[in-house]
Amino acid sequence: MNRFKGKTVVITGGNRGIGYAVAERFASEGANLVIASIEPQVEEAAAELRNSGAEAIGVICDVTRSEAVKTLYDRAEEAFGGVDISMQNAGIITIRKVEDLTENDWDATMAVNTKGVFLCCQEAITRMRKSGKGGRLINTASGQARDGFIFTPHYAASKMGVVGITQSLAKEVALEKITVNAICPGIIFSDMWDYNDKIWGEMLGDYAPGELMKDWVENKIPMKRAGTGKDVAGLVAFLASEDADYITGQTINVDGGLIMS
Ligand code: NDP
Repeated sequence: MNRFKGKTVVITGGNRGIGYAVAERFASEGANLVIASIEPQVEEAAAELRNSGAEAIGVICDVTRSEAVKTLYDRAEEAFGGVDISMQNAGIITIRKVEDLTENDWDATMAVNTKGVFLCCQEAITRMRKSGKGGRLINTASGQARDGFIFTPHYAASKMGVVGITQSLAKEVALEKITVNAICPGIIFSDMWDYNDKIWGEMLGDYAPGELMKDWVENKIPMKRAGTGKDVAGLVAFLASEDADYITGQTINVDGGLIMS
Protein backbone atom coordinates (compact mmCIF):
# COMPACT_ATOMS: atom_id res chain seq x y z
CA MET A 1 0.00 0.00 0.00
CA ASN A 2 1.12 3.54 -0.71
CA ARG A 3 -1.56 5.38 1.26
CA PHE A 4 0.82 8.05 2.51
CA LYS A 5 2.79 8.75 -0.68
CA GLY A 6 3.61 12.46 -0.75
CA LYS A 7 2.56 12.96 2.89
CA THR A 8 5.03 14.17 5.49
CA VAL A 9 4.93 12.70 8.96
CA VAL A 10 6.66 14.21 12.00
CA ILE A 11 7.20 11.78 14.90
CA THR A 12 8.74 12.85 18.19
CA GLY A 13 10.52 10.09 20.05
CA GLY A 14 10.85 8.59 16.59
CA ASN A 15 14.33 7.13 16.92
CA ARG A 16 13.43 4.05 18.97
CA GLY A 17 10.64 2.09 20.64
CA ILE A 18 7.06 2.83 19.64
CA GLY A 19 7.99 5.94 17.63
CA TYR A 20 10.46 4.10 15.42
CA ALA A 21 7.98 1.28 14.77
CA VAL A 22 5.45 3.90 13.67
CA ALA A 23 8.07 5.54 11.44
CA GLU A 24 8.79 2.17 9.80
CA ARG A 25 5.08 1.67 9.17
CA PHE A 26 4.65 5.08 7.53
CA ALA A 27 7.85 4.51 5.53
CA SER A 28 6.45 1.21 4.24
CA GLU A 29 3.39 3.13 3.01
CA GLY A 30 5.34 5.77 1.11
CA ALA A 31 5.46 8.71 3.55
CA ASN A 32 8.29 11.19 4.04
CA LEU A 33 9.57 10.91 7.61
CA VAL A 34 10.85 13.53 10.03
CA ILE A 35 11.86 11.79 13.23
CA ALA A 36 12.94 13.72 16.31
CA SER A 37 14.55 12.98 19.64
CA ILE A 38 17.09 14.53 21.99
CA GLU A 39 20.04 12.24 21.31
CA PRO A 40 22.21 12.41 18.15
CA GLN A 41 21.31 8.73 17.48
CA VAL A 42 18.17 10.08 15.82
CA GLU A 43 20.28 10.72 12.75
CA GLU A 44 21.37 7.07 12.64
CA ALA A 45 17.73 5.99 12.95
CA ALA A 46 16.83 8.26 10.02
CA ALA A 47 19.70 6.75 8.02
CA GLU A 48 18.25 3.27 8.68
CA LEU A 49 14.89 4.42 7.32
CA ARG A 50 16.62 5.82 4.22
CA ASN A 51 18.48 2.52 3.77
CA SER A 52 15.10 0.81 3.62
CA GLY A 53 14.14 3.14 0.74
CA ALA A 54 12.27 5.87 2.62
CA GLU A 55 12.70 9.62 2.45
CA ALA A 56 13.66 10.49 6.01
CA ILE A 57 15.51 13.04 8.10
CA GLY A 58 16.43 12.98 11.79
CA VAL A 59 16.25 16.17 13.86
CA ILE A 60 17.62 16.65 17.35
CA CYS A 61 14.83 18.39 19.24
CA ASP A 62 14.01 18.74 22.90
CA VAL A 63 10.21 18.93 22.84
CA THR A 64 10.17 20.94 26.07
CA ARG A 65 11.71 23.94 24.28
CA SER A 66 9.43 25.95 21.99
CA GLU A 67 12.30 27.25 19.84
CA ALA A 68 13.55 23.70 19.24
CA VAL A 69 10.01 22.61 18.32
CA LYS A 70 9.71 25.49 15.82
CA THR A 71 13.00 24.43 14.27
CA LEU A 72 11.74 20.84 14.00
CA TYR A 73 8.74 21.90 11.90
CA ASP A 74 10.91 24.35 9.92
CA ARG A 75 13.15 21.41 9.03
CA ALA A 76 10.10 19.42 7.92
CA GLU A 77 9.05 22.31 5.67
CA GLU A 78 12.53 22.77 4.23
CA ALA A 79 12.94 19.07 3.49
CA PHE A 80 9.45 18.14 2.34
CA GLY A 81 7.36 21.31 2.00
CA GLY A 82 5.20 21.00 5.12
CA VAL A 83 3.64 18.60 7.58
CA ASP A 84 0.53 16.47 7.04
CA ILE A 85 0.64 14.13 10.02
CA SER A 86 2.20 14.85 13.41
CA MET A 87 2.62 12.23 16.13
CA GLN A 88 3.46 13.63 19.57
CA ASN A 89 5.05 10.56 21.09
CA ALA A 90 8.16 11.55 23.09
CA GLY A 91 7.72 10.54 26.70
CA ILE A 92 9.51 9.80 29.95
CA ILE A 93 8.63 8.02 33.18
CA THR A 94 10.04 7.63 36.68
CA ILE A 95 8.62 5.28 39.28
CA ARG A 96 8.85 6.25 42.94
CA LYS A 97 6.96 6.01 46.21
CA VAL A 98 5.10 9.22 46.85
CA GLU A 99 7.53 10.38 49.57
CA ASP A 100 10.49 9.88 47.20
CA LEU A 101 8.98 11.66 44.21
CA THR A 102 10.86 14.92 43.69
CA GLU A 103 9.68 18.23 42.37
CA ASN A 104 12.10 17.65 39.51
CA ASP A 105 10.41 14.31 38.68
CA TRP A 106 7.10 16.14 38.52
CA ASP A 107 8.37 19.08 36.43
CA ALA A 108 10.43 16.99 34.01
CA THR A 109 7.59 14.54 33.37
CA MET A 110 5.01 17.25 32.81
CA ALA A 111 7.45 19.17 30.60
CA VAL A 112 8.09 16.29 28.18
CA ASN A 113 4.81 14.37 28.30
CA THR A 114 2.32 17.24 28.46
CA LYS A 115 3.92 20.58 27.54
CA GLY A 116 5.97 18.86 24.82
CA VAL A 117 2.80 17.39 23.30
CA PHE A 118 1.13 20.80 23.40
CA LEU A 119 4.07 22.66 21.83
CA CYS A 120 4.23 20.19 18.94
CA CYS A 121 0.45 20.28 18.42
CA GLN A 122 0.56 24.09 18.47
CA GLU A 123 3.30 24.26 15.87
CA ALA A 124 1.78 21.55 13.65
CA ILE A 125 -1.71 23.12 13.73
CA THR A 126 -0.35 26.59 12.99
CA ARG A 127 1.34 25.27 9.87
CA MET A 128 -1.57 23.03 8.83
CA ARG A 129 -3.90 26.04 9.12
CA LYS A 130 -1.65 28.14 6.94
CA SER A 131 -1.48 25.43 4.28
CA GLY A 132 -5.28 24.99 4.31
CA LYS A 133 -4.78 21.31 3.50
CA GLY A 134 -5.88 19.94 6.87
CA GLY A 135 -3.92 17.31 8.72
CA ARG A 136 -3.77 14.65 11.39
CA LEU A 137 -2.48 14.88 14.94
CA ILE A 138 -1.96 11.77 17.03
CA ASN A 139 -0.90 12.14 20.66
CA THR A 140 0.58 9.29 22.66
CA ALA A 141 -1.12 9.05 26.04
CA SER A 142 -1.08 5.77 28.01
CA GLY A 143 -3.28 3.26 29.78
CA GLN A 144 -2.41 5.46 32.76
CA ALA A 145 -4.54 8.21 31.23
CA ARG A 146 -7.49 5.89 31.92
CA ASP A 147 -6.47 4.26 35.13
CA GLY A 148 -3.36 5.63 36.88
CA PHE A 149 -1.00 2.99 38.22
CA ILE A 150 0.83 2.82 41.55
CA PHE A 151 4.04 4.89 42.12
CA THR A 152 3.49 7.17 39.11
CA PRO A 153 1.05 9.98 39.98
CA HIS A 154 3.11 12.49 37.97
CA TYR A 155 3.13 10.24 34.88
CA ALA A 156 -0.61 9.52 35.18
CA ALA A 157 -1.33 13.26 35.51
CA SER A 158 0.88 14.04 32.52
CA LYS A 159 -0.92 11.50 30.33
CA MET A 160 -4.40 12.54 31.49
CA GLY A 161 -3.29 16.03 30.45
CA VAL A 162 -2.63 14.68 26.95
CA VAL A 163 -6.28 13.62 26.73
CA GLY A 164 -7.38 17.14 27.73
CA ILE A 165 -5.12 18.75 25.11
CA THR A 166 -6.46 16.33 22.50
CA GLN A 167 -10.12 17.06 23.21
CA SER A 168 -9.71 20.83 23.46
CA LEU A 169 -7.71 21.12 20.23
CA ALA A 170 -9.99 18.70 18.38
CA LYS A 171 -12.90 21.05 19.07
CA GLU A 172 -10.93 24.12 17.97
CA VAL A 173 -9.84 22.71 14.60
CA ALA A 174 -12.83 20.53 13.77
CA LEU A 175 -13.94 22.71 10.85
CA GLU A 176 -10.46 22.84 9.32
CA LYS A 177 -10.06 19.22 8.16
CA ILE A 178 -7.65 18.65 11.03
CA THR A 179 -8.32 15.73 13.37
CA VAL A 180 -6.72 15.31 16.78
CA ASN A 181 -6.79 11.95 18.54
CA ALA A 182 -4.94 10.26 21.39
CA ILE A 183 -3.81 6.68 21.77
CA CYS A 184 -3.34 4.70 24.97
CA PRO A 185 -0.78 1.92 24.62
CA GLY A 186 -0.86 -0.76 27.31
CA ILE A 187 2.26 -2.84 27.90
CA ILE A 188 4.44 -2.48 24.82
CA PHE A 189 7.95 -3.95 24.45
CA SER A 190 10.45 -1.04 24.52
CA ASP A 191 13.26 0.45 26.61
CA MET A 192 10.61 2.21 28.68
CA TRP A 193 8.85 -1.02 29.44
CA ASP A 194 12.17 -2.69 30.41
CA TYR A 195 12.63 0.09 32.98
CA ASN A 196 9.01 -0.23 34.17
CA ASP A 197 9.33 -3.98 34.48
CA LYS A 198 12.52 -3.74 36.54
CA ILE A 199 11.54 -0.90 38.87
CA TRP A 200 7.86 -1.74 39.39
CA GLY A 201 8.87 -5.38 39.76
CA GLU A 202 11.34 -4.49 42.53
CA MET A 203 8.98 -2.06 44.25
CA LEU A 204 5.96 -4.34 44.14
CA GLY A 205 8.21 -7.10 45.52
CA ASP A 206 8.91 -10.70 44.56
CA TYR A 207 9.27 -10.10 40.83
CA ALA A 208 12.53 -11.02 39.08
CA PRO A 209 13.23 -9.08 35.84
CA GLY A 210 10.61 -10.07 33.26
CA GLU A 211 8.34 -11.65 35.86
CA LEU A 212 6.07 -8.64 36.23
CA MET A 213 5.29 -8.60 32.52
CA LYS A 214 4.72 -12.37 32.64
CA ASP A 215 2.26 -11.94 35.50
CA TRP A 216 0.35 -9.21 33.63
CA VAL A 217 0.29 -11.23 30.44
CA GLU A 218 -0.98 -14.33 32.21
CA ASN A 219 -3.40 -12.67 34.60
CA LYS A 220 -4.42 -9.21 33.43
CA ILE A 221 -4.28 -8.88 29.63
CA PRO A 222 -7.24 -10.72 28.07
CA MET A 223 -5.28 -11.36 24.85
CA LYS A 224 -2.48 -12.87 26.95
CA ARG A 225 0.44 -11.15 25.24
CA ALA A 226 2.32 -7.88 25.54
CA GLY A 227 2.09 -5.45 22.63
CA THR A 228 4.69 -4.48 20.06
CA GLY A 229 5.46 -1.22 18.32
CA LYS A 230 3.79 -2.73 15.25
CA ASP A 231 0.53 -3.12 17.16
CA VAL A 232 0.61 0.59 17.98
CA ALA A 233 1.69 1.54 14.45
CA GLY A 234 -1.42 -0.14 12.99
CA LEU A 235 -3.68 2.13 15.04
CA VAL A 236 -1.66 5.26 14.25
CA ALA A 237 -1.68 4.52 10.52
CA PHE A 238 -5.45 4.03 10.66
CA LEU A 239 -5.99 7.34 12.48
CA ALA A 240 -3.78 9.09 9.92
CA SER A 241 -5.61 7.54 6.96
CA GLU A 242 -8.69 8.69 5.04
CA ASP A 243 -10.62 5.86 6.73
CA ALA A 244 -10.48 7.94 9.93
CA ASP A 245 -11.81 11.16 8.36
CA TYR A 246 -14.76 11.33 10.77
CA ILE A 247 -12.89 10.44 13.97
CA THR A 248 -11.64 13.27 16.18
CA GLY A 249 -11.19 14.04 19.87
CA GLN A 250 -11.04 10.32 20.67
CA THR A 251 -8.75 8.43 23.00
CA ILE A 252 -8.24 4.86 21.85
CA ASN A 253 -6.65 2.01 23.79
CA VAL A 254 -4.22 -0.38 22.12
CA ASP A 255 -3.55 -2.88 24.89
CA GLY A 256 -4.93 -6.34 24.16
CA GLY A 257 -8.00 -5.53 26.25
CA LEU A 258 -6.10 -4.61 29.43
CA ILE A 259 -8.32 -1.59 30.04
CA MET A 260 -11.84 -1.68 28.62
CA SER A 261 -13.08 1.90 28.59
P1 NDP B 1 11.19 4.81 24.92
O1 NDP B 1 11.72 5.08 26.28
O2 NDP B 1 11.65 3.61 24.18
O3 NDP B 1 11.41 6.08 23.99
C1 NDP B 1 11.15 7.37 24.47
C2 NDP B 1 11.38 8.34 23.35
O4 NDP B 1 11.10 9.66 23.79
C3 NDP B 1 12.84 8.34 22.86
O5 NDP B 1 12.84 8.47 21.47
C4 NDP B 1 13.40 9.59 23.52
O6 NDP B 1 14.48 10.17 22.80
C5 NDP B 1 12.20 10.51 23.43
N1 NDP B 1 12.32 11.65 24.32
C6 NDP B 1 12.38 11.65 25.66
N2 NDP B 1 12.51 12.91 26.13
C7 NDP B 1 12.48 13.73 25.04
C8 NDP B 1 12.56 15.13 24.84
N3 NDP B 1 12.68 15.98 25.87
N4 NDP B 1 12.51 15.61 23.58
C9 NDP B 1 12.39 14.78 22.53
N5 NDP B 1 12.32 13.44 22.63
C10 NDP B 1 12.37 12.92 23.89
O7 NDP B 1 9.60 4.80 25.11
P2 NDP B 1 8.41 4.06 24.32
O8 NDP B 1 8.71 3.92 22.90
O9 NDP B 1 8.01 2.90 25.13
O10 NDP B 1 7.27 5.17 24.57
C11 NDP B 1 6.84 6.07 23.58
C12 NDP B 1 5.61 6.77 24.14
O11 NDP B 1 4.63 5.79 24.48
C13 NDP B 1 5.86 7.56 25.42
O12 NDP B 1 5.12 8.75 25.39
C14 NDP B 1 5.36 6.65 26.51
O13 NDP B 1 4.96 7.37 27.66
C15 NDP B 1 4.19 5.99 25.81
N6 NDP B 1 3.78 4.71 26.39
C16 NDP B 1 4.60 3.61 26.36
C17 NDP B 1 4.17 2.40 26.89
C18 NDP B 1 5.01 1.16 26.88
O14 NDP B 1 4.59 0.13 27.45
N7 NDP B 1 6.18 1.14 26.24
C19 NDP B 1 2.85 2.28 27.50
C20 NDP B 1 2.06 3.50 27.45
C21 NDP B 1 2.52 4.66 26.90
P3 NDP B 1 16.03 9.73 23.05
O15 NDP B 1 16.20 8.36 22.50
O16 NDP B 1 16.78 10.76 22.28
O17 NDP B 1 16.24 9.80 24.53
